[in-house]
Amino acid sequence: MADEKELRYDPATIEPKWQQRWAADPALYAAEPASCGKPKYYVLEMLPYPSGQLHMGHVRNYSIGDALARHMWMRGYNVLHPMGWDAFGLPAENAALKNNVPPREWTLNNIAGMKRQFNRLGMAFDWAAEVTTCLPDYYRWNQWFFLRMFERGLAYRKKSKVNWCPECATVLANEQVIDGRCWRHEDTIVEQRDLVQWFFRITAYAQELLDGLDKLDGWPEKVRTMQRNWIGRSEGTEVDFFLEEIEGTGNREEGTGSEQGTGSGQGTGNRDQGTEKTRIRAFTTRVDTIFGATSVQLAPQHALVAWFTAADSALKAQVDELIEQQKRAREAGDLGAIEKHGVPTGHFAINPYNGEKVPIWVANYILADYGTGAIMSVPAHDERDFEFAVKYGLPIQQVIHPEDKSMAVVLPFVSEEGVLVNSGEFNGLTCAEAEKKLQQIAAAKGFGEAKVTYRLKDWGVSRQRYWGTPIPMVYCQAHCEGDGPLPVPDNQLPVLLPERIEITQQGGSPLARVPEFVNTTCPKCGGPAKRETDTMDTFVDSSWYFYRYTDAKNATAPFDSDIVKYWFPIDQYIGGVEHAILHLIYSRFWTKVMRDLGMVENDEPVRRLFTQGMVIKDGAKMSKSKGNVVSPDDMVARYGADAARAYSLFAAPPDRDLDWQEDGVAGVSRFLARVWRLTTKYAPVARAGRGDSHPFGTERRMDGAQAAAPTGVSLKLLRKLHQTIAKITLDFEGRWHFNTCVAAIMELVNEIQGADAQLAAGEVPPAVMLELLRSLVLLLAPFAPHLVAELWEELGEESSVLRAPWPVSDAELAKEDELEVPVQINGKLVSVIRVPAEADSKTIEAAALADEKIQARIAGKTVVKVIVVPRKLVNLVVK
Ligand SMILES: [Zn+2]
Ligand SMILES: [Zn+2]
Repeated sequence: MADEKELRYDPATIEPKWQQRWAADPALYAAEPASCGKPKYYVLEMLPYPSGQLHMGHVRNYSIGDALARHMWMRGYNVLHPMGWDAFGLPAENAALKNNVPPREWTLNNIAGMKRQFNRLGMAFDWAAEVTTCLPDYYRWNQWFFLRMFERGLAYRKKSKVNWCPECATVLANEQVIDGRCWRHEDTIVEQRDLVQWFFRITAYAQELLDGLDKLDGWPEKVRTMQRNWIGRSEGTEVDFFLEEIEGTGNREEGTGSEQGTGSGQGTGNRDQGTEKTRIRAFTTRVDTIFGATSVQLAPQHALVAWFTAADSALKAQVDELIEQQKRAREAGDLGAIEKHGVPTGHFAINPYNGEKVPIWVANYILADYGTGAIMSVPAHDERDFEFAVKYGLPIQQVIHPEDKSMAVVLPFVSEEGVLVNSGEFNGLTCAEAEKKLQQIAAAKGFGEAKVTYRLKDWGVSRQRYWGTPIPMVYCQAHCEGDGPLPVPDNQLPVLLPERIEITQQGGSPLARVPEFVNTTCPKCGGPAKRETDTMDTFVDSSWYFYRYTDAKNATAPFDSDIVKYWFPIDQYIGGVEHAILHLIYSRFWTKVMRDLGMVENDEPVRRLFTQGMVIKDGAKMSKSKGNVVSPDDMVARYGADAARAYSLFAAPPDRDLDWQEDGVAGVSRFLARVWRLTTKYAPVARAGRGDSHPFGTERRMDGAQAAAPTGVSLKLLRKLHQTIAKITLDFEGRWHFNTCVAAIMELVNEIQGADAQLAAGEVPPAVMLELLRSLVLLLAPFAPHLVAELWEELGEESSVLRAPWPVSDAELAKEDELEVPVQINGKLVSVIRVPAEADSKTIEAAALADEKIQARIAGKTVVKVIVVPRKLVNLVVK
């Protein structure tokens, strides 16, 4: 029978049919120019790495953004919802090594496959704005930005200790080292090496990056906290301890201690270590305690230590052991938990405030790259210093006491609520007063200054990789401009990656082995020159890609500033919380640099950020190694794209982890089948209502006179409908409980199906039937686009559902006439009363006291108190 087939929901037929129609209509998901006059909405999900396969985490991420984009189109916005590919990176090289496929070919094949998957899922992306970061039309602008940064001193080279992953055979940024291991290779211990590297001076924006967080109130607090900690601002003082004169060591040599930092906060901390042999610059957050300093502690890598050990082989052996301990602790993943060891150097330093001589130690818990790599040790007022002093028998001198002199003090006393004692002329000052005064003295006498330091380091961007953006610099072989790097002129961009290259992942940068790439001419003198062979960190690509989306085909600039001005900042960005401190700090930095270049007007790229939870299965994150991966293709084949998408939204609040249950997908699929049956069954009735005046509709009531209140089953169903509209609309406005949205639609469907007998008996007018089904379809549109498109057509609609106005809740209709309010006596439920929905507390109280059951219970007793929670509860306290 034909009927049998008609009543079967068949996503395998419906979905490809609509995907074909959508593909034939490129304007459907295309952003419109600013001149369209509509309000704009830029919704963006983080772009994927083209590994070749979408996973369920992707499906979830993109289902959230897609639902939002569809909703905003229906709300009348001009929506930008683009997609692209974070296409540079190591896996392409690994694949090349393993399968002998060129990285470019491998990557572009993967992109094609994933694009097919996206389309099979019915994602509403504007493919005209597609960005592929590994193609020259994109990465040339990475090079262009690099040159702009170089011109402004924001890109520079320095020799530095770098994190080296032996597995990646490349340098890692600090952010890419997690617990001493590579962020990609959880089992690989990161080594330290000395290399000349390119850096971006992100520290120049440290304070602004920190301050900006206060204004990002559309970001999750946890992300803002992570960024604050990562930037790690601490206020304190730098103080020089003078080196005690040593006979015959040439310690008269003048240092360059007055050398100024670059004003960029952190990253300049080590500046004095190289040449200074007359003083030790220490950083402290508690200069008020300096009279209690009983030693100076140096990091084992401090330049002065090398100078001491050069003449003292016994000391050298001990220091080497400290370095070894530090290395092992780093490898174990927790440098903060290192067991503290130190050795005295036999040298002494002079406290500049009181002339007191203190011993200089080397300690394994002092880090060369934090502050200045030197501290003053004040055991009486610092936990760590106390522990160290007790262990090695160093003196402990109390210099801070609570203002109340009679109070007993247990050392270490770390509070800053106190006054100075044993501190000469500063006795009696509060800690805060003393800090200010001591800083002034240091500055006046030239042995220190107030100082803000940041944990944030400059961003190391050099990678010894092939599959990345070539750094557009050359080195003249004739040294026409000295030994420095020279920028490739803009008109020679892009510096193209050579296509065919042997990848060995050994012996440094693969580009260095390609003479056609390396050998070039000097832009200054025309003589022979060699190209830089490092490529850029792939986080460069993702730092500004979302600007390119707005003007993806621009061949003369990264983008048109006017177009960016219209679309930015991004209204809603969606992605994993693992990007909180990498991508999301770098892209904020990049935006500020572009602003200072006059290219954009916004200070921040993203107004609202949402971080979705992970998809887990059998208690663990889905991963190949755990063997618990669910393939989106399988799910789509078995249940359809709509069911897979709706399930990924229904199964958990979007910000929580989702525990994947295949039963759940099957359940959502059955629900969609019910919607399909219900709608197709009553579509003929509803179609008959088209053009009829709605007997109870808003339009009619707005005319005034003809308004007729719906009654009976019509009222019941319309009320439920308008309550559902109100709820889902509210969720899209920021609450984002999409799981309860889908649940609310399920309840609505239950209610309509529950009235089947009355519907079949024609008790509901066709126009009401039309409103019910039409609205049901519209409410489901963000979550199950294929089914919805099919049913929309079934209801006789000709235009795209994506441009149909989102339904508006009628508050009058949604209002309940009466509410059921439970009544408790001393916390125990005794009765339930019915009151008008808008009843005030007094009315509810009176109704509760008049209730028969309640009267029976309170007879002869005293009602001490009546607590009314309007609409919810009455509780009587009775004695
Ligand atoms: Zn690695
Ligand atoms: Zn030259």
